[in-house]
Amino acid sequence: MNPITMVDLKGQYEKIKKEIDENISQVIESTAFINGSKVKEFQTHLENYLDVKHVIPCANGTDALQVSLMALGLKAGDEVITSPFTFIATAEVVALLGLTCKFVDVEWNTFNLNAAQLEKAITPKTKVIIPVHLFGQSCDMGKIMQIAKKYNLFVVEDVCQAIGAEFICETGEKKKLGTIGDMGCVSFFPSKNLGCYGDGGAVFTNNDELARNLRGICNHGMFKQYHHELLGVNSRLDSIQAAVLDVKLKHLDEYNAARKKAAVFYNKIFQNHSKIEIPAISEFSTHIFHQYTLKLKNENRKNLIEKMKKNKIPVMVYYPIPLHLQEVFKYLGYKKGDFPIAEKLSDCVVSLPMHTELTEEQQNFIGKYLIDSVKE
Ligand SMILES: *Cc1c(COP(=O)(O)O)cnc(C)c1O
Repeated sequence: MNPITMVDLKGQYEKIKKEIDENISQVIESTAFINGSKVKEFQTHLENYLDVKHVIPCANGTDALQVSLMALGLKAGDEVITSPFTFIATAEVVALLGLTCKFVDVEWNTFNLNAAQLEKAITPKTKVIIPVHLFGQSCDMGKIMQIAKKYNLFVVEDVCQAIGAEFICETGEKKKLGTIGDMGCVSFFPSKNLGCYGDGGAVFTNNDELARNLRGICNHGMFKQYHHELLGVNSRLDSIQAAVLDVKLKHLDEYNAARKKAAVFYNKIFQNHSKIEIPAISEFSTHIFHQYTLKLKNENRKNLIEKMKKNKIPVMVYYPIPLHLQEVFKYLGYKKGDFPIAEKLSDCVVSLPMHTELTEEQQNFIGKYLIDSVKE
């Protein structure tokens, strides 16, 4: 059995080595390292895959979120609502732009923003909702879009962990996450479901004007050479990363299916265990299992993690401290008890190795030690 790792990028690379190496070497031969044709090709392929009008590539997922907010013409003090149970980047960009971050608690089952609690957080200053499709499945986009429409709010989807997952509309129609709100933001960090071999990101939108502004903002607010119309940044996807992504995009559905299969196999191992709760899939979403995250009931998580590590099984806690209790956000004035579900999840979640190369032998091994460490 191969050593168990949280992700196995090496094993995945071995299978597509020829295509990747060829595509990268074309970029090197062409020397079009920035804004080369590979970037444009990948952009078009991703637009087709997502069925969205515009993909604007940028340097990473955090930048994607930042330039999206910059494109909305907000002013200091405007409020942005998001989840306290996510990676810091989602809220960080809000604060960096002088906007005010407002949190709304998440749902126990899906880890995602609780749409039923959204309305009470809305004030006259609220301008944007950032739903985070955590661990690979959709927030309740039906309800969220309805509320956004009612209060005239922008919706910027954080789809960093859910590229390829779909929201299932009431009509049964499926839409790729990131194409439902005004903009969708994705990260191509190596360990994400569509990851490159460095940093990368993109924004998606069906809105022509937003697309124009986003392209400008990513390039110093420049639309005509050395004429700067908007305040921008330098945020580009480089051609070598686009070359990697263009190959991996062709395999994305297959990769997501492999993760789903591994999740179903984990479920078989852990279901019906009195001290372990397996992940739930909501009826309005497909799930691409960026993470496979269990909830432990009345269990000493620290001991369990140590026991797993002794047996060379890596496990991770995403996320150990909800954002409203982070030191950096102290100034927002939140306190313990404000978002009880996010707090309870932070105390009991554990994510297991999840990637495209996981074998049933490895999963059985992980399952055996995990169940041994959790006494019923
Ligand atoms: C990874 C991630 C980001 C940031 O992406 P980077 O490419 O690392 O900047 C933002 N939000 C979420 C939910 C993420 O998982």
